[in-house]
Amino acid sequence: MSAPKPCMADLALINGKVITVDEKFSFAEAVSVKDGRIQAVGTTDEVMKLTGPETKIVDLKGMTVMPGLYDSHLHVVGTGSALQIINCRTPPMMSIEDLKNAVAEKVKEAKPGEWILGRGWDQAKLAEQRNPSRYDFDEVSPDNPVVLTRTCGHLIVANSKALEIGGVSKDTPQPLGGVIVKDENGEPTGMLEEGPAMNLVRNQIPQEGVEDYMGQIKTACEAFNAVGITSVIDAGNTSDHMVAYQRLKENGELTVRTNMMLAAIQKSEPIEDSVKRINEFPMLSGYGDELLKFQGLKILIDGGVGGRTALLREHYENDPEDYGVLTVPVENLQKLVDAGNMRGMLCGIHCAGGAAMDIVIDAFKKTNKVKPIKGRRFYLIHAYQPTEQNFKDCRDMGIMVASQPSFLYYLGDSYYGNVGPERSKWLKPHRAWLDEGIMCAAGTDSPVTPYPPFVSLWTSIARRTEINDTQMGTEQKVTRKEAIKMYTLNGAYLTFEEDIKGSIEPGKLADMIVIDRDVMTCPEDDIKDTKVLTTYLGGKVVFEA
Ligand SMILES: [Zn+2]
Repeated sequence: MSAPKPCMADLALINGKVITVDEKFSFAEAVSVKDGRIQAVGTTDEVMKLTGPETKIVDLKGMTVMPGLYDSHLHVVGTGSALQIINCRTPPMMSIEDLKNAVAEKVKEAKPGEWILGRGWDQAKLAEQRNPSRYDFDEVSPDNPVVLTRTCGHLIVANSKALEIGGVSKDTPQPLGGVIVKDENGEPTGMLEEGPAMNLVRNQIPQEGVEDYMGQIKTACEAFNAVGITSVIDAGNTSDHMVAYQRLKENGELTVRTNMMLAAIQKSEPIEDSVKRINEFPMLSGYGDELLKFQGLKILIDGGVGGRTALLREHYENDPEDYGVLTVPVENLQKLVDAGNMRGMLCGIHCAGGAAMDIVIDAFKKTNKVKPIKGRRFYLIHAYQPTEQNFKDCRDMGIMVASQPSFLYYLGDSYYGNVGPERSKWLKPHRAWLDEGIMCAAGTDSPVTPYPPFVSLWTSIARRTEINDTQMGTEQKVTRKEAIKMYTLNGAYLTFEEDIKGSIEPGKLADMIVIDRDVMTCPEDDIKDTKVLTTYLGGKVVFEA
């Protein structure tokens, strides 16, 4: 028995088409893996020379391989929990009647008083074409509190039991930064907008703990691997989420490389508490390893265009009073950004509407004077409506963007109504971001929109909506190559990992997926239906169809 040659590959994928996403965006036929990293990329003959009796050789028979996909902004615990609660999306829910029936089903299995939760409804897609109200669910759930979160995450509907437990009545004053929607008689309709209002009820839901989070993260990881996701930025974690991650990692159950972000504001706490948390937080940006890392601080200052809560520069269609919602006062935002910056955390800030973007960039400018941020990869999350000035400021300070093409597909129909046809063309202008030389990475913000990445990737190329097939600004389409880069290398760039992932090149982590079609040459609309056959994380199979 002789020891295997040290250069012998552990794994070789041969006779395929490898989309390498290297500098030249070149294609290869085969790839080999050694010790979890890409060993060689080339022709089948070249790669076969590196194989031996110990090598697992996979004949791809012409199948396509590409780097594992990177979702640069989503919520892992939220996604895992969404997979465990009522799926209120359309489809499967076609009407409020369907939602009612789903709630009734859950109530049958629930213990007395147990909370019935769901997520994903969008009134624009429901047959009744209206928001659900408390009364819709009272009939099927008089004793169990019900809370269903809208697809955007910025609105909930609660039934009467839930409102009662949350102490929300006719007499409840409007909380700062949120809205209790009331009818003409002043009675709450059950709709609560934004954190400060939603939390009146949500804070009454029994607390989840580390064990629950572990289950949710695991559920999400399995789901992600099955659609080709090998890396994510998880935006808005608490310390308990981070402990759950570490335990899963210890157990060998973390199968998605995760960059965690600390949630700056947790619950309806005073600003001093948030700043204190940042000042005392024991991790700085970059701490961790290739599997689990701390990226920085996540702050959120407005909502979304679909729920008319994104803070716009010009008012929403058909309502001259409505500019959206600013959820954090400007001076508090500055305190958070400064605290993160001084502590050594990069900041990623949710700013959907143009006015919110202006506010965030302004906060970056101010903090930049205290301690420079260039080269530290601060970034904007969503960033729908950039101006020429925004582009310039982003270039000057090295600010990047995490955008979600999937929003245009799943939520675009509501955008079209809320901001009209002209402004719709310039929502999430990916072409412009890239042409302006600003790093832009893609994702889904799951569970805000579904996590399967090829729909989102395709949307950045096609820019069409799900229901009405409306074009959302054809000038802003990107090419297939750019769309793939936004979902791989650009994501890696956001987390300072472009040297270890995002492309299939020697020395990089062997995170790869085998897919059922050639996304470079198939008919454009087929890209969104791409299925993943195998997902490798560090050369190990984490999913197989
Ligand atoms: Zn988000």
